[in-house]
Amino acid sequence: MSATLIRAVSADLTVRALVAVTTPVVEEARRRHGTYPTATAALGRVLTGALLLAATLKRDERLGLELVGDGPLRGVLADATPSGDVRGFALRPHTHLPPRNGKLDVGGALGAGRLCVSRVPLAGGDLYRSIVPLVSGEVGEDIAHYLVTSEQVPSVVGLGVFVDRDGQVEGAGGYLLQPLPDASERTVDALAAAVEAAPSPSTMVRDGLDAAAMAELLLGDLGTTVLQRQPVRFRCRCSRERAGGAILAMGREEIEDILGTDGSVEAVCEFCGERYHVEEDEVRALLAGG
Ligand code: ZN
Repeated sequence: MSATLIRAVSADLTVRALVAVTTPVVEEARRRHGTYPTATAALGRVLTGALLLAATLKRDERLGLELVGDGPLRGVLADATPSGDVRGFALRPHTHLPPRNGKLDVGGALGAGRLCVSRVPLAGGDLYRSIVPLVSGEVGEDIAHYLVTSEQVPSVVGLGVFVDRDGQVEGAGGYLLQPLPDASERTVDALAAAVEAAPSPSTMVRDGLDAAAMAELLLGDLGTTVLQRQPVRFRCRCSRERAGGAILAMGREEIEDILGTDGSVEAVCEFCGERYHVEEDEVRALLAGG
């Protein structure tokens, strides 16, 4: 199934729903970074959460989402744009823990720590940054806690990744539901009941539901109107040119050292794992400023 994010509202327009199916996005991240199952689940949840949060932004911003903790995974970072590009990585991609209650133990892998959201205006200007402690390290709950405490927006967030026996991503997706200030108590109760009754996001995706069908289950009797559908994708902003900049930032001494041993320099983009191999004459041209 293709990776899609939809924006929807309840029939009475008082609940906003963002729902995403991200299986190919998370599978590409797994393949690029060689993550083990627990790390794959953590990274997939954070990539999906970043896409959902970015969909709440104005068009000219980029969203950064970071969860760092004292567990074996150490941390997961992602950034996403409102147009549906996301990239990210796990600090210890080879983390895998025994399952807990039959599920990949993302909370145990992250441990105790903090969640940081940053919003970067693309045209320059002030960076917004907000940090809250992790509640469970399960990512969805942590993002909901951030939205309630830091942005004062009551939110229900569900994120899930199912990894098959071969370690591949079989289903990934998530949702962000927000009752608006004029939602009635009855609406809020009906939403809670519908979410409670709905299967987990990864189960819905594995069952073949698309984002609109997931929204219908999550909003239940409140009714669903889909306002917009957009494709989402794993896409990094790195390039050969930027890799050259990263090499220069190492400093002349270290560059000479590497050239002396290897005859070339390799820069690896941490966000997408792309390797840029730069030969000595090209490195010399960079050093010479051209
Ligand atoms: Zn990259």
